Amino acid sequence: MEYYQTACTIIDQLRARDDYLILAIETSCDETAAAVTRGRTVLSDVVESQIDIHKKYGGVVPEIASRNHSLKIEATIQEALLQANVTLNDISVIAVTRGPGLLGALLVGLCHAKALAYARGIPFVCINHIKGHIAANYIIDPTLQPPFITLLASGGHTEILKVDSFNKIECLGSTCDDAAGEAFDKVARVLNLPYPGGPEIEKLALTGRVNQKLPYPFRREKHLNFSFSGIKTAVINLVANAKRKGQELASADVAASFQALVANILTRNTIEAAKRTGINTVALAGGVGANSELRRALEHSCAENQFKLILPPKRFCTDNASMIGVACFEEIKIGIVPSGLEVDADPSLSCII
Ligand code: AMP
Ligand code: MG
Repeated sequence: MEYYQTACTIIDQLRARDDYLILAIETSCDETAAAVTRGRTVLSDVVESQIDIHKKYGGVVPEIASRNHSLKIEATIQEALLQANVTLNDISVIAVTRGPGLLGALLVGLCHAKALAYARGIPFVCINHIKGHIAANYIIDPTLQPPFITLLASGGHTEILKVDSFNKIECLGSTCDDAAGEAFDKVARVLNLPYPGGPEIEKLALTGRVNQKLPYPFRREKHLNFSFSGIKTAVINLVANAKRKGQELASADVAASFQALVANILTRNTIEAAKRTGINTVALAGGVGANSELRRALEHSCAENQFKLILPPKRFCTDNASMIGVACFEEIKIGIVPSGLEVDADPSLSCII
């Protein structure tokens, strides 16, 4: 109780300030990440990726992810402090991802944050991972203010979010089945490409042509939802038919056609959301946001409609802790209270309010 009261007093004193340091921790999936941020500025950003470890299993193995977070978390935090040229004594608040994500993975970061905060007598604040992805746009455009439309396209989510304020977010469209990143990963597996599939498909598509017929789900529907599993099935059928006929599959053409279609669908619905709401600022979030074809399509359509587009660099589209630190700063400004030591991780935490 005494710890929590002190934490509340500290956070209240910080609300009107933008000069204090946040140590941010992110362990929701397969990246052990730590960062030091001040306001919307990143002082250090360290990401220890486990991709090479999970590659041989064709996807993230939750227990292996948790174990590796446990092994790497302390060194990752120390590296973030070192690169920012600060010590724990300089840190005012610890920000940590509470969810959504893998339970065991989240718990490593959360327990570490709790222990550090309690030992130092400083507050810790639980952050929603999706709000973190949205906040990555604040790093790139420190003048950005809601309202804006965010296309969130990651391995677990595909949503069009109307950000009215940092604590009022409405979902205008979401996937009915696979997430966009999941579709990239599954199609890559069908094409015998390693995990994670997104960057592999992007590489292969460079030498391919957009000439394969794939279905465009919900083309004539008014809603802004997505469906990707039918496209994945169509790719599986292309591969099976080529095999049955003894023909060599033009994998690069399939990759290029699939990538162009997904980029087109994501872009069309995002632009439509901006038009319908009259909000002319569009932001991008999530790992699929690293895809060059999607970025090109968004740039083209936003320019055509005279919408402002914020495109975080690829390293801020994929998981990182800087976005968690900046989200924490925004949350403190608008009144969030510190988390208590009893708080638990929440694998399916929602950001829709
Ligand atoms: P996240 O869930 O935000 O950590 O992002 C991971 C997802 O993004 C995985 O499904 C990746 O395949 C996907 N991804 C990463 N880079 C790219 C890329 N260049 N093109 C398409 N998808 C990508
Ligand atoms: Mg993510």
